[in-house]
Amino acid sequence: MRHFEGKGYSAEFVKNMTNVMETLQEDTPVLLWNGGDVICAQCPNYKDGSCISRDKVMGYDAAVLNATGLRAGMKIPYGDFQEKIEEFIMKPQKIKEICGACQWAEICHKS
Ligand code: SF4
Repeated sequence: MRHFEGKGYSAEFVKNMTNVMETLQEDTPVLLWNGGDVICAQCPNYKDGSCISRDKVMGYDAAVLNATGLRAGMKIPYGDFQEKIEEFIMKPQKIKEICGACQWAEICHKS
């Protein structure tokens, strides 16, 4: 989400992702969830209640939670989540270590 620039898996995915991003304010409570979510809901990779790249994505999610000290099931303000990402992933430059194999890495790793 931090590096979203209007690209994605399909037009429906991009539209939904844009809508989700527009609803998020610093104080918006977000539920940290390591499964299908509001973004997956319009993704062509979400089939029969699961992501077709489930194992890969679960690995990214677990690595992010581990690095930030957060846990699945926690509900925190979106701004606090962004701060954790900045402090524990972006500043220590862990992004390539955590999700360097992602197909969108070129976008996220250029900044
Ligand atoms: S986790 Fe899978 S289903 Fe969800 S947005 Fe990413 S690719 Fe799509």
